[in-house]
Amino acid sequence: MRQFEIAREAEGRSSAAAKATTDLEKAAKDRGIKYFLISYVDLFGGLRAKLVPASAIGAMQKEGAGFAGFATWLDMSPADSDMFAVPDPSSLIQLPWKPEVGWLAADLFMDGEPVAQAPRAVLKKQLADAAKLGYEMKTGVECEYFLVSADGTAISDASDRAEKPCYDQSALMRRYDVIKEICDAMLSLGWGAYQNDHEDANGQFEMNWNYDNALLTADRHVFFKFMVKSIAEKHGLRATFMPKPFPNLTGSGCHAHVSLWAKGKNAFSDPKGELGVSKLGYAFIGGLIHNADALCALTNPTVNSYKRINAPRTLSGATWSPNTVTYTGNNRTHMIRIPDAGRFEFRLADGAANPYLLQAGLAAAGLDGIANARDPGKRLDINMYTEGHKVKAAKKLPLNLLDALRNLEKSKVLAERLGAPFVAGYLKLKTEEWNAYSRHLTQWERDNTLDI
Ligand code: ADP
Ligand code: MG
Ligand code: MG
Ligand code: MG
Ligand code: MG
Repeated sequence: MRQFEIAREAEGRSSAAAKATTDLEKAAKDRGIKYFLISYVDLFGGLRAKLVPASAIGAMQKEGAGFAGFATWLDMSPADSDMFAVPDPSSLIQLPWKPEVGWLAADLFMDGEPVAQAPRAVLKKQLADAAKLGYEMKTGVECEYFLVSADGTAISDASDRAEKPCYDQSALMRRYDVIKEICDAMLSLGWGAYQNDHEDANGQFEMNWNYDNALLTADRHVFFKFMVKSIAEKHGLRATFMPKPFPNLTGSGCHAHVSLWAKGKNAFSDPKGELGVSKLGYAFIGGLIHNADALCALTNPTVNSYKRINAPRTLSGATWSPNTVTYTGNNRTHMIRIPDAGRFEFRLADGAANPYLLQAGLAAAGLDGIANARDPGKRLDINMYTEGHKVKAAKKLPLNLLDALRNLEKSKVLAERLGAPFVAGYLKLKTEEWNAYSRHLTQWERDNTLDI
């Protein structure tokens, strides 16, 4: 047995199951794939890959593609052994805009052991923890993005200037060629794409597909970002998932909808529960409320993220992002919204969130809620933007990345569930990022300090 197979067995996947998965060499022949992208996502959400010709995929499927881990954001040393990215054949996606290339999500190994801090491994551990309790986590994500000029300085459509541009049909249709190509791609991949719209900021769009198993959703989320950027580029544009690219416009969120399933049934659904949500669902929400201030370090992972949450009113009239740790029914001004029976929506995360760490963080916080029967408190039905100041008990979200990182550092729950090596590595790299930002001299400082 090869080293990575031993390691995969150790993480709960039998070698029999590994053998039963797709043979990539055969898939290349059957489907006309000439090259494979063996890819992984690092701690900062960067998508890294090697482009491997089909003639070499047989060996790579067994051994993995070699990488120098230190060269990406994984908290490794230049003296470490080579890292191997072993493709998960079940994740294979032929690029709809370039079908001779097959994309693969990979799991990372070093010296025959899984890399504990690899984001996909961190998520798999949470899902295995949920499975131990008999639950499968299913999620859907709403990945808002802007279409901007190729140099990134302005939105790409000069006519898209309405004060309330949400659902603007003309602005949507001026981008029909791009949107249609992406939506057609999702349809051909069988994701269950069901709607596309112009969002609340000029130049901003959202495209929705159906929820599924959280690992599958995370892999699709990674691929969606890659696809949107690639297809936009093909059309001479640039797509950005940056949380707040323009100060006066609504930012890009990445809402996540969550439910837990047991034996084919939605365990968050209870017709007798408040708003049709079960006790289990409320305990999961309780976990998110309890851990939100630390979770922010994962769901809102950049300096820029904090310009989306806690933001002043935007041109359209609302930021649509939360500023407090509260939950509600069908009301979009809180951190958690229960839009429907049997699920809830987590509205805090933004476009910079690492697709795997977003799901892993939700699972870790939610499972903590279940394990400790955390009480989410009373639902608030008020407009948080206008009446929030009246609720003295409502916890505020961190005001910047450093505060969020400090909260993560203090969180015993997240260290225990996500693993100390992951949390330590993440904090180290993100703190370095914060320090680099702090050393940067801004125009605001010059404007406000030059004449002091
Ligand atoms: P909204 O804009 O109202 O928040 P969207 O339609 O844009 O909603 O996105 C809703 C997302 O929630 C979709 O990905 C959808 O598949 C997902 N979803 C629906 N039901 C569930 C559920 N039971 N569990 C998890 N996700 C769900
Ligand atoms: Mg080399
Ligand atoms: Mg939506
Ligand atoms: Mg939206
Ligand atoms: Mg939403």
